[in-house]
Amino acid sequence: MKYCPNCGAQLPDNANFCSVCGARFGAPQPNYQQPQYQQPQYQQPQYQQPQQPQKMTYMDRVRQARQEQKQKKGQIKWWMWALIGIGTYLLIQFNPLGLS
Ligand SMILES: [Zn+2]
Repeated sequence: MKYCPNCGAQLPDNANFCSVCGARFGAPQPNYQQPQYQQPQYQQPQYQQPQQPQKMTYMDRVRQARQEQKQKKGQIKWWMWALIGIGTYLLIQFNPLGLS
């Protein structure tokens, strides 16, 4: 028994690839492994490195921060209106300031 390094599935000792997730490992046949090995290694860094991290630049972080601030402000407003409503209600009901 050996385990898939990618998903952890149990596999027979002579397995060249994981039957669960399809990951390949330790193939003894170089002719078979090379074309399979080059494709994912070439695609993954090109897709992850230049596109996503560079697009998530300063402007995106600023936008995210602004959105979070807007959400916080919305919550504060909601609380403020609730407090104003409760205060008004208490003033009308109990008139603690002696207003007529
Ligand atoms: Zn697997």
